[in-house]
Amino acid sequence: MTEKPSEILADDNAILPFQISDTAVRGHVVRLSGAIDEILNAHQFPDAVSVLLGEAACLVAMMGASLKFDGKLIFQAQGDGQAPMVVADYTAGGALRGTATLQSGEITGSGISLFGKGHIVMTIDQGPDMERYQGVTPIEGSSLAEAAISYFDQSEQIPTMVKLAVGRLSSPGEPDRWRAGGIMAQFVPGEGGTRERGEEMLMSEDDQDVWTRAAAFVQTTEDDELLDPSISTETLLYRLFHEDGVRVFDALPVHAECSCNGEKIAAVLGRYSQEDLHDMVENDAIRVTCEFCRKDYLFAPNGERLGEKADTG
Ligand SMILES: [Zn+2]
Repeated sequence: MTEKPSEILADDNAILPFQISDTAVRGHVVRLSGAIDEILNAHQFPDAVSVLLGEAACLVAMMGASLKFDGKLIFQAQGDGQAPMVVADYTAGGALRGTATLQSGEITGSGISLFGKGHIVMTIDQGPDMERYQGVTPIEGSSLAEAAISYFDQSEQIPTMVKLAVGRLSSPGEPDRWRAGGIMAQFVPGEGGTRERGEEMLMSEDDQDVWTRAAAFVQTTEDDELLDPSISTETLLYRLFHEDGVRVFDALPVHAECSCNGEKIAAVLGRYSQEDLHDMVENDAIRVTCEFCRKDYLFAPNGERLGEKADTG
């Protein structure tokens, strides 16, 4: 792929909500360039892990975009594989971040097998005064997209189709840059419906037709269509759904942003004994690195804050 003029990149780092005609089929397309490049570059994970984390970031962004409150949606995969913990979260307003924990040793697998056996945990966090909602399902399927479909089926009983893609864009004379994209369609009667959680989804024959068709079209989406910056999101949606007609809504911008904060870390350090703090000193300072954005926070041996530095590798 080659670099294209900037006006064609206008829908990068954004989530576009859509609806098939006036049906109950709604969805989101996410296209990420700089935001995902920043997140993945901070970690320098092996490529297979970067791809999986990028997919998780796309998924949580699309799911989080439908949140109707000032909260955070957290995706966690917890397994026994080579990447036993992969976390991505999206905060209303478009802040996205992610990280992974790796087992020691070379990464030999790829895709969802890196999780191993375990669970997907989705958490809605609306702040310390609100109860957290958590959905937990086993990790199933041969891709993260399939695992997400299974999550919605088991945890929310919402018919869902998802495609996710992560790749590198090469430009002559420049370092490769990560890109990621995803499309998710769901059958959601009445904008979430009045259905009780767990209640059987009732679909008329027409509903069934429109959903089956929409899901099949989403499934045909190629990685290139999600990643190629010369294909606009509107073009992609038109290609997929022009027969039924598709409406798009206002795009939601997405950016890489971490909620880590030096004062919080200082408060945590303040609970350690002088002796424990002393054991953490290296080169006359205590360095705490954020596991999400890799930013370093520096503290004096007595726990006093010295400052912060962007990723120093
Ligand atoms: Zn951070």
